[in-house]
Amino acid sequence: MSNGIVVIALGGNAFIQKGQRGTIDEQWANVTRAMRQIADIIEKGYKVLLTHGNGPQVGNILEWMEALKDRIPPLPMDVAGAMTQGWIGYMIQQSLANELRKRGLNQNIVSVVNQVLVDGNDRAFRNPTKFVGPYYTEDEARKLMDEKGWDMKPDPRGGWRRVVASPSPIDNLEKNAIKTLLNNNFIVIASGGGGIPVVEEQGQIAGVEAVIDKDLAGELLASLVGADHFIILTDVEGAMINYGKRNMRILRRVTVDELERYYEEGHFPPGSMGPKVLAAIKFVRNGGKMAAIGHLYKALDLLEEKTGTIITR
Ligand code: ADP
Ligand code: MG
Repeated sequence: MSNGIVVIALGGNAFIQKGQRGTIDEQWANVTRAMRQIADIIEKGYKVLLTHGNGPQVGNILEWMEALKDRIPPLPMDVAGAMTQGWIGYMIQQSLANELRKRGLNQNIVSVVNQVLVDGNDRAFRNPTKFVGPYYTEDEARKLMDEKGWDMKPDPRGGWRRVVASPSPIDNLEKNAIKTLLNNNFIVIASGGGGIPVVEEQGQIAGVEAVIDKDLAGELLASLVGADHFIILTDVEGAMINYGKRNMRILRRVTVDELERYYEEGHFPPGSMGPKVLAAIKFVRNGGKMAAIGHLYKALDLLEEKTGTIITR
């Protein structure tokens, strides 16, 4: 019995919510609540492939490394990304398994440590824009730029921070393993944090210091596995036009052409709603039946098109 493959992208609020410090109790409570939503979808007979963000978690790891750099040699960002895939994947595996057990369901759940190929010549490497890690004073920042060759910029939220490139995902290196797992009825967690970015040179692969957007990497994986539905779960009801203004309005049902027009009009900023909208457009253009953007706690209703923003051909 299968209703098709649904790829679900979990936003930051599935793990650490606004105003929380991110204690382990908070994290377990958030993940547990999120997994009730996912279990509702599994119970309906869908094959589920989950992906997730890692912004706060990778930020924590970078701060730990900075604070302890005199005692333990710091690790590069690709390794930090791999650490978050294990951390978050573990929490999802356990909390989803427990929710399914409560419902008398017993399915295999597995996380994949997942590398995503990017182009070393991607223009994004010439203009790094993604803020990562701790905040520094301008003097500290200038020292780090000299010592480590980091790019650093003033963050609009105050202080100086490291910036890294956000290149486009071009391939998912574990796609065949992921497809095999899905075909064998495993619930799979993959492409966490947008995947570990790697480049290929002379037939060899190597990690790079960059961050791939998790919604764009999720779209690539969804298209590669031939998913029917791509569901982006976040902390708002859907994609809005005139966001934050008096005439703000949620888009309920849109075609890719309509949504593209709103995108070009600048309704969806980069780094938040922008990549979600782009990912949804790409997925449907690549042959997906439907993409949806909506609230984490309405996941099944969103999949059944009862709420949120529904994007179709
Ligand atoms: P996630 O962790 O789920 O990826 P993001 O913070 O990246 O969350 O993106 C969701 C946020 O996008 C919302 O909390 C909202 O504040 C912001 N946002 C910006 N523009 C829009 C828009 N046009 N419609 C809806 N939300 C928007
Ligand atoms: Mg985001």
